Amino acid sequence: MAVLLLLCAGAGWMEINSYSETDQLRLARWSNTVVGADAIEVRAWYGYIRSSRGKVALKTLSFSGQAKVKVTEEIRNDSDGKTHYDWEWNEDLSTKREPEWMMVPKNYSNRIQFAGFNYGRFERRGGYYMGNSPNEVSVINLVLVPWPAVVGAFGIGPLWWMCERALRKWRRKRRVAMGRCGECGYDLRGSKGECPECGGKPRERMVREAHPTPEGLGGVK
Ligand SMILES: [Zn+2]
Repeated sequence: MAVLLLLCAGAGWMEINSYSETDQLRLARWSNTVVGADAIEVRAWYGYIRSSRGKVALKTLSFSGQAKVKVTEEIRNDSDGKTHYDWEWNEDLSTKREPEWMMVPKNYSNRIQFAGFNYGRFERRGGYYMGNSPNEVSVINLVLVPWPAVVGAFGIGPLWWMCERALRKWRRKRRVAMGRCGECGYDLRGSKGECPECGGKPRERMVREAHPTPEGLGGVK
């Protein structure tokens, strides 16, 4: 519960922050392999989490294909076929670059727009990210989620828990005021001490509330 509350507060802070600056976490995974005297095979995947303008964007970009390049010693060293991992935290991007992809561009397909949520997909064949590469395939998936939805998702659990606790407390109070066991609701007006039904010990204060005076009890009948 504490973790959820913390996440909820964190999301709230990010939402407020997103109106004044853009933050981004970029994850990357790529590998380059030399496949000939003038060609390298490229496989790349990028994941972005970006917070801006009251929304959080999740974007993946992947592309692969062969690129025609003159394979120099430097490129040969760089294109070792190994998978590389990398991440980068960018703070306050808005001062450097417009947060242009806090919306789904019009040329994306499978566009979904619902209650502030957005989705779009973009597929391209042919050289784009890799220059002269006719067999390159690139795919972009973009999801936009309003920060309030994230705050709500983390906050609903703790809120439910607090409501239930308050409701339980109120029920117990009402039962005791009616001269019943606070735990199970058994009628305690004829008994003293523990509840014969569930063994619940009525607290001193509760007993006094339930039975103001011995005379009072008789007088009600
Ligand atoms: Zn009871």
